[in-house]
Amino acid sequence: MDFKEPPTLLDIAIQCLLNHEPLAIQALQEIPRELFVPLFTAAFKGRHEKILSAMVKSWPFFCLHVGPLSMQEVQPKLWKVMVESLQLFPAENPASRSPKLRILDLTQHPGYKTKCPVITTTCKPCVRSCAYSERSLMKVQSQCSNSSSESEGQSPKTTMELLVSLSLDRSFRGNEYFALLLSKVEQSLGSLHLCCRDLRIKNLSECRSALSHLDLKCVSHLAVVEASLISVVPLLEQAVNLDSLSLSKITCRSFNERAFRNFLSQLSCMDHLKELSLSSFCLTDHLEHVLRVLPADLDFLQLLFCELSYSDLKFLSQCPQVNYLKLLDVSNNSIFWEDCEPFYCLLENLSGTLQHLAIDHCLLTDATLSILAPALSRCSQLRLFSFSSNPITMPMLRRILEYLTPMTQLKYVIYPIPMHCYGRWHDRVCLDQQKLVDVNAQLKIMLQEAERDDMCWITYTG
Ligand SMILES: [Zn+2]
Ligand SMILES: [Zn+2]
Repeated sequence: MDFKEPPTLLDIAIQCLLNHEPLAIQALQEIPRELFVPLFTAAFKGRHEKILSAMVKSWPFFCLHVGPLSMQEVQPKLWKVMVESLQLFPAENPASRSPKLRILDLTQHPGYKTKCPVITTTCKPCVRSCAYSERSLMKVQSQCSNSSSESEGQSPKTTMELLVSLSLDRSFRGNEYFALLLSKVEQSLGSLHLCCRDLRIKNLSECRSALSHLDLKCVSHLAVVEASLISVVPLLEQAVNLDSLSLSKITCRSFNERAFRNFLSQLSCMDHLKELSLSSFCLTDHLEHVLRVLPADLDFLQLLFCELSYSDLKFLSQCPQVNYLKLLDVSNNSIFWEDCEPFYCLLENLSGTLQHLAIDHCLLTDATLSILAPALSRCSQLRLFSFSSNPITMPMLRRILEYLTPMTQLKYVIYPIPMHCYGRWHDRVCLDQQKLVDVNAQLKIMLQEAERDDMCWITYTG
């Protein structure tokens, strides 16, 4: 029988309020401020839209972040309710139980509290407040204190920020949520700053009208899917404060053309960039040009379907920009393994920092893996190692397991289905399910014998 902690008095009080919506909404005027965060959390998780709406309308704190409540699935309906309930032009009487919300953060970033603690010693009352846009609360405040006069429609007393993640694939008219955001901005007569932190754009040419409503200086995570490099460059000229850039299915006619040079010059300005993901972006023999201009302390590097050559890999192994990587993913490249030394050196260089390594579908053979194994086993921080869809045999799989089980930090291994399980490995046909079951059973026994039941070995059959 499961032992469950009895509910606390607070849990019971909150449950009682949630079960009586009108009572809960009425009580918001009287309940202690300390109850707002636990009640909001419970109402959000239980999707009590009416209570959420009332809570946003009377939120007694400066900021509200939904990131800590991040759920598996996105919650467009709840976001819509919260945006609709955002009270523009907050009252000026600080003593009354009037809404004090100035920053509504609907981005999905865990790691922050639902509201920031009140710190009067700093000029930044919220850790997520916008630092870049001219319309941000901080800029409006400093402009007004400098000029001691309020510019039209931009009073620090009424300026608010709405932090969002957006996924655009067509004009804003076709995107109901985005249309709502824009109408809210319009209602605010300039006092609401729509601050987009995470932006995903698919079909760039269709999104131009939508993009004209955003200040791309605010964006920290940008992903662009399916575009020509020449059309991406103007975006990067504006999005100068990126922490993370992901470009997928990008066409570049020639590395000699101006678009590629401009792309490099924009990358070289991205001093904050920590994560770079390039996918289906053919960079054969030109990875060097991209890596050279990046900041020296990159955390994440993904190079999927980039058609990397031997000289690309060789440069990667000598490049100071990637010396502190926590994640490296070079999957889906036909890597030239005749000379494994560059990759071996790369693993040695990253042995103190690398936490996540993926080399799926890279034509990695038994011979190559056995050469790389000693360097791999020295990556003491490694938590996930993925090498699926490579032509590996069962004896090698057993051997690599022996190499990996002493690595105490390593918890997840995504392994390739050994070749003998297929009728024909190269086109992955005729998978013998029984043979695969036997493989799993053997690995399980070996993990038990190595006392590594905490280690998870999984594979994909798709
Ligand atoms: Zn905050
Ligand atoms: Zn902003």
